[in-house]
Amino acid sequence: MLNRNKEGTPDLERCCDVCHSADSKRVDAYSEAQWPLVECLSCGFIYLKQVPEYEALSDELAWEKQHAQEAKRRRKSIGGALDAATRWRLVLGKMFDDRVLTQQRRSSGNILDVGCAGTCANVPLGATPFGIEVSEALARKAAPEFEARGGQVFHGPAHEGLDCFEGIQFSSVYMRSYLEHEAQPRIVLEKAFKRLEPGGTVHLRVPNFGSPNRIVMGRRWSGFRFPDHVNYFTSPSLRRLAESIGFQYRRVNGWSLFDDNLMVVLTKPASS
Ligand SMILES: [Zn+2]
Repeated sequence: MLNRNKEGTPDLERCCDVCHSADSKRVDAYSEAQWPLVECLSCGFIYLKQVPEYEALSDELAWEKQHAQEAKRRRKSIGGALDAATRWRLVLGKMFDDRVLTQQRRSSGNILDVGCAGTCANVPLGATPFGIEVSEALARKAAPEFEARGGQVFHGPAHEGLDCFEGIQFSSVYMRSYLEHEAQPRIVLEKAFKRLEPGGTVHLRVPNFGSPNRIVMGRRWSGFRFPDHVNYFTSPSLRRLAESIGFQYRRVNGWSLFDDNLMVVLTKPASS
């Protein structure tokens, strides 16, 4: 298992990563007292203005602990009960998403799973798996699996991990249920672009702030999670960010009204 350089703590105060503007206004309807959500005045992107320090994400705010707390909170709330009662939407959406992802993904070369959690099972056999995981406990759990297949896991933030796998080019990078947590999504996508082979792909799955369910559920939408979801992408905002870096953007579940997520394949042009 590779460990991070401890000097790389991100800034706590953010600008808009889609258009670089620092001008924003608080969105009271969706904010929590301690964690203000803001809307970019230039492009409309919704994001968390202040983010937790990296060290907190590594341990006390780690995904596995947040997930357990959130599940408990949701079971107790009326909105959560309604959301749970309509969970079939998510099951249906995920079933189709997974099929789409399986069709899109490659099964050779070096494949990087960003936010790999405790396993390399997402990377098809035949490819060499690499992983990045911010939770120390999960990275430690995953390391033997990755190493047994000739790969490695990096424990730390994604932008540092992408620098760490020196000399390695990836055929694909997976970012499933990850980019919504990332305080520096532009830097991470720029670094992924550089590390991809020409024609290589990034496979993304993120909560869709533009989904019909978010509009219906409002504040009770399951995509709101404070403070660990720091970006609230829509298809247009994610497209703008990706295309400004040089990726070709393709949404692969645009037909689904029931899915709370965006499923997107970003391609590095073969000529780049
Ligand atoms: Zn903006």
